[in-house]
Amino acid sequence: MQQNHKNHSFQSLGGVLAQGNFPRPKNSETASANRLAEYNCGLCHDRGWLVPDVPFDHPDFGRLVRCECMKYFDEQERRERFLRLCRLPRGSEARTFDTFEIRPGLEEAYQAALDVAEGKLKWLTLMSEVDRGKSHLAIAIARRWLERKRPARYVAVPELLDELRKGYHPDADMSYDEEFYFLKNVDLLVLDDLGMEATTPWVKEKLDTLVNYRSENALPLVVTTNLSFEQMSERIASRLQRVPFGKVVVIDAPEYRIFHRRKPKK
Ligand SMILES: [Zn+2]
Repeated sequence: MQQNHKNHSFQSLGGVLAQGNFPRPKNSETASANRLAEYNCGLCHDRGWLVPDVPFDHPDFGRLVRCECMKYFDEQERRERFLRLCRLPRGSEARTFDTFEIRPGLEEAYQAALDVAEGKLKWLTLMSEVDRGKSHLAIAIARRWLERKRPARYVAVPELLDELRKGYHPDADMSYDEEFYFLKNVDLLVLDDLGMEATTPWVKEKLDTLVNYRSENALPLVVTTNLSFEQMSERIASRLQRVPFGKVVVIDAPEYRIFHRRKPKK
């Protein structure tokens, strides 16, 4: 089997399948032998990404990389796989940059969101009262990221606890450890609607860890919130404000939803 990948100790998908010996990715202690047999790719469990088994001084150490199997899929399958992993909210297909209404007060937020979507800006914090268009922009960023064929993950922060708990469910795609690892390392993480519920100790600790990790590794992050920095966890507030590759935009615009409801009438 031709080994056209370099540096990584990957086996090619064909090689793995031929041997019938499915290496387990890291952090997969909960995956049973039965579950493993159901995957087409034993390396990445059909996720399309994995953590390469490389020495700690290798540039890819601890980072997610695209799995070898991805080259066996066509464009459509690849797109569907990344879309599933991203977990965008149901019914949010129309929330793109094209459908965003750039009204007075939203220009800076729109431009900064575009910059993140196109890889020109790493961190973006959008602050405003509810329904000012933040979530629309956050979702649009994730969608554009997927169009660029880069993995992204959208998280509605109020649901983070449930999201992570799903990891314990036997039918879940990932174990809790895998899920949290993915949140830490995915190319783009969107934390939408960081609010008061994020102050419960367990969620707070998880969020602190996520934000801290992504800061230290300079991994793209988008946060939307209706909290002020004073209302947030001190560690998160400090990171969002001080990270050298980040930007904070405070949106001062009228309610986005009301505007949209009225628009068709004119
Ligand atoms: Zn794979």
